[in-house]
Amino acid sequence: MSLSLPFDNSYARELPGLYVDWPPAAAPAPRLLFLNQALGAELGLPPLAEDQAAALFAGNALPAGAQPIAQAYAGHQFGGFSPSLGDGRALLIGELIDASGQRRDLAFKGSGRTPFSRGGDGKAAVGPMLREVLIGEAMHALGVPTTRALAVVATGESVYREEALPGAVLTRVAASHLRVGTFQYFAARGEFEQLARLADYAIARHDPGLSAHPERLIEFLRAVSARQARLIAQWMNLGFIHGVMNTDNMTISGETIDYGPCAFMEAYDPATKFSSIDQRGRYAYGNQPPIAQWNLARLAEALLPLLADPEGPESAMDAAVAQVTAVLDGFPALYEAALRAGQARKLGSADAALSDDWLALLQQGKADFTASHRALAAALEGDETPLRRRFESTEGLDAWLARWRAACAATPAELRAANPAVIPRNHRVEEALAAASEADDLTLFEALLVALRRPFDEDPARARFTEPAPPAQAACYRTF
Ligand code: AMP
Ligand code: MG
Ligand code: MG
Repeated sequence: MSLSLPFDNSYARELPGLYVDWPPAAAPAPRLLFLNQALGAELGLPPLAEDQAAALFAGNALPAGAQPIAQAYAGHQFGGFSPSLGDGRALLIGELIDASGQRRDLAFKGSGRTPFSRGGDGKAAVGPMLREVLIGEAMHALGVPTTRALAVVATGESVYREEALPGAVLTRVAASHLRVGTFQYFAARGEFEQLARLADYAIARHDPGLSAHPERLIEFLRAVSARQARLIAQWMNLGFIHGVMNTDNMTISGETIDYGPCAFMEAYDPATKFSSIDQRGRYAYGNQPPIAQWNLARLAEALLPLLADPEGPESAMDAAVAQVTAVLDGFPALYEAALRAGQARKLGSADAALSDDWLALLQQGKADFTASHRALAAALEGDETPLRRRFESTEGLDAWLARWRAACAATPAELRAANPAVIPRNHRVEEALAAASEADDLTLFEALLVALRRPFDEDPARARFTEPAPPAQAACYRTF
């Protein structure tokens, strides 16, 4: 019996011309690898038998009410503009209203070619899709707004990258799939009516309080900017490196999206990057805040023709430019405030100089970012050993610790609640994905997922997940 879900497909209904109706490709032998029970419950999914879930999340048996579409978008990729990207291997399946009343997109990734595929095969491999599960669930448990994986199904088909790999379809849940690049698509084509409808839709969906505001577009830009400032500050305070902050990978909702070449930094160094295609380090750890601001400037540009008629008087356009510039200029302060608030929780002190000096010590001592922060709780309790062993050189550490002890107003429990023990360490992620992809063995993947879902717990039995990679391994880690 086929399943029916209460989809309400507002994007497809309200935004004709902003997508193409497109069905998922059939998978020859779908097999369920992962199902997010908790997320399914939030979305009101009924309990599903395994073969039913496999057919559903492979795209072979779409539930009644689903309306698969490929969304159009553009984007700046590594600084260069691509006017037509779009869902080349993804499909929006439908929207569900979750238990808290929030509208959530369900989308497939890896479900076959679409009119936006260009030279691509429209497919995805098991390893990278399980990677999205691990990183997304970790981010969620760490309190970071994120798209999440609902299911991964192996298709039973090979996909060809440098070698033949087992294919998979990921079902992703998102507050929406609206991106900076969605706005750029219509602005670049001069389709201002579509652009205006898109802006109305985005405001109604993500900033409904602004719908009646006399300066709603500028306030919308301000709201997106504020969400991104908070998001990037969270990334920075976790050592998260997105790796491909193209404008098509920056959401309007403020959720993290697209866990392709991302990774967590180990030894603290702002120049850290893991993606080999990012040759110049455009998306290195320390560049993420200015890149976010740069991406927001692209959103602002896309909104300009709605703020002032491009054919109208120059003075009106100048005024609109001044307005958006003021919003963009406000980004660094918003980011800085969010970053400092996070640092204050991590150290138990709002002293910015103390925080800056700590990061300088971590960098000089090549200390692991996550483990060093986590060891502060033990240090506060009188045991400095776990902290000291993180540093190659402890020069300056004693003096800093004396200042910190005098300034710290947090309890050890509060420090532990602000500094995770477990993050998705690169070597653990890779070994889990290799076993899943090469040997069809999900044991390591499942054990890692359990640990990642409780990142703040103190549990000595989990040392396997809290220790950094051996330095030689860490030095050559590449995600792409
Ligand atoms: P990404 O770098 O993952 O954000 O993707 C950038 C663009 O490339 C998007 O338009 C994707 O839909 C498209 N794309 C990525 N991989 C594939 C693929 N295997 N087949 C078709 N399109 C793809
Ligand atoms: Mg993407
Ligand atoms: Mg990607």
